[in-house]
Amino acid sequence: MENKKQLIDTKTKDFNDEVVESEASLKTIMKGLMTGIAIIDEQTHTIVDVNPAAADMIGLPREKIVGKICHKFICPAEEGKCPISDLNQKVDNSERILLTGKGEEIPILKTVTRIDLFGRSHLVNSFVNISERKEMEAELVRAKQEAIAASQSKSEFLANMSHEIRTPMNGIMGMTELLLDTVLSEEQKDYVETIRFSSESLLTIINDILDFSKIEARKLDLDNIEFNLKDTFSNTVSSLAVQAHKKGLELIADIPPELNYNVSGDPGRLRQVLINLINNAIKFTEKGEIGVSVREQTRSGSKITMHFTVADTGIGIPKYKLSMIFKAFAQVDNSTTRKYGGTGLGLTISSMLVHLMGGRIWVESEEGKGSRFHFTVVFDYMVKEPRRTVRAKFDRLQNMSALIVDDNPTNRLVLYGMLKNWKMIPKAVESGKAALKEISRDKKAGKKFDLILVDSQMPEMDGFSLVERIIKEDYSGHSTIMMLTSSGNRGDAKRCRELGIRGYLIKPIKQSELLDAILLMFGIKTKEKDNELLITRHFVRESKKGLKILLAEDNIINQKVSSRILEKYGHLVTIAVDGKDVLAKMKEKSFDLILMDVQMPNMDGFEATREIRSQEKKSGGHIPIIAMTAHAFSGYRDKCIRAGMNDYLAKPLKGETIENMINSIFDS
Ligand code: ADP
Repeated sequence: MENKKQLIDTKTKDFNDEVVESEASLKTIMKGLMTGIAIIDEQTHTIVDVNPAAADMIGLPREKIVGKICHKFICPAEEGKCPISDLNQKVDNSERILLTGKGEEIPILKTVTRIDLFGRSHLVNSFVNISERKEMEAELVRAKQEAIAASQSKSEFLANMSHEIRTPMNGIMGMTELLLDTVLSEEQKDYVETIRFSSESLLTIINDILDFSKIEARKLDLDNIEFNLKDTFSNTVSSLAVQAHKKGLELIADIPPELNYNVSGDPGRLRQVLINLINNAIKFTEKGEIGVSVREQTRSGSKITMHFTVADTGIGIPKYKLSMIFKAFAQVDNSTTRKYGGTGLGLTISSMLVHLMGGRIWVESEEGKGSRFHFTVVFDYMVKEPRRTVRAKFDRLQNMSALIVDDNPTNRLVLYGMLKNWKMIPKAVESGKAALKEISRDKKAGKKFDLILVDSQMPEMDGFSLVERIIKEDYSGHSTIMMLTSSGNRGDAKRCRELGIRGYLIKPIKQSELLDAILLMFGIKTKEKDNELLITRHFVRESKKGLKILLAEDNIINQKVSSRILEKYGHLVTIAVDGKDVLAKMKEKSFDLILMDVQMPNMDGFEATREIRSQEKKSGGHIPIIAMTAHAFSGYRDKCIRAGMNDYLAKPLKGETIENMINSIFDS
């Protein structure tokens, strides 16, 4: 019992000591805290105590603060609507204002909790001065606004520069082309050709600089369209073959036949990177060869990564310079600029484009031995078959009416000259307003323009607004509209598709390119799904691709004549001498079409066709086969079709007849 009492006494003493000790330590903590603490009686709103940090912030001694109403210093604006006492919230955690003794407002971050002290409800306010943070935040907001404004003015400047540069370039290049169509002496022709060559070189540099600035300003949009990888690759490489051959270099394209599928991505930008690397390879190689290859690297889900290489046997790059050549304006040594020319931007742009396309770029090289550039690009794999494009016949343009809308008089003249050359009936106006007047006048007369060419950058009413007005007022019925632009802005293609604009070309525009685009717009039938189809520079380029045709013909003269006709239409011809040879050639390469002579030694056309069709039953696929025969008697077509052929042509072959048949086979 005694022991128990002693134990209780000791416990009480310990407890009292603890209270004294904890009070003392609490005071020490309050004193030492950098956070301001103010204790407020909840009922009277008077300040009961403050710690030195709070007194410091308020700028008055403790005695002048204690006993005052809290709102005199803390949250002066909240009087009568204090969240914690008036609105009865549990805690208040917020940014508030502290009013100093001098009447200065300081932003504070404040936490309030309710505690019971001596049987009364008190509020413990703890707060820190956040004026520095606030200033930083304000600074950040200002900096962000300035950056947005700067980027905005940069992109406006870019669009402006692009317009300002391309407009006169269009004038120079367009007039040069028109001049070349007139009667000129040999000497004059030579001069004009030099102008054309020089303006094309200048355009390449301008495009590089504009591209570079666009990517820097993050204003470059990638296209996302479906294209055939193999065709784009082969066409790009072959477009530089002449240039390589002029220097006595071999240019070899290496693409495995199984890569003949469609992908979705930006073919124009892929082409740009390839052209830049191949151009460099040609530039920096004096003898030997340039090999360009592509391989599938990985496939995951619908994503497919392709690995491209461009290898040369040229001057190579010293090891210590390898890392810098992808940097802007970098060239291995300054003398290269004088010797080889160039801006030093090509690889930088290529590297930026490759990164935008989800890949990377690198180089291996040995001085004096050559360089091997690698890059990868990620595409979406497409299962669909590529579509064939059909051009309208040139004669169809004759007497077609066209309206040209452009504020620039030289551009109007250039376009007018081109359309006139093609026997169209053009009319040119200088503004959207004038265009609407023309269109409405025509409508009243029950007519419409077959074609409307609209410049996108015009003062007052720009091209897109004009097209919107045309559609809204349904003036033009179904005029075919093409947009011509000199700055290629973000989202333009999407807007064109939405508005039903059929073509979109970037100035300066080549005569042949405009003609191709117009023929394509009129050639492709307007099925509903085709409204999505926008004829662009890439489309024109791709549509020019020829078919790979296997020509089965035993007669040497006919072989020559027929292949020349086919090549004139841009097709690639391989010759087989008989049916057996057809089967052998098909094992080596893939073809788009077979033109099959019916009578051939060893194995005739019918037998070869039956053999091909029976193999296709196992392997899948269906290659179109057109029979060629001199037997044009009735019922012969049926015989050909029964043998598994798609159609037949009567000899002698005529270019236009073959083209029409090819178009009808591939368009069906
Ligand atoms: P440009 O060719 O316009 O000078 P690039 O950015 O395309 O600019 O190339 C930068 C530099 O890299 C070139 O000036 C050259 O010194 C070097 N270079 C690029 N490709 C090759 C190559 N295939 N062989 C040797 N040097 C090269």
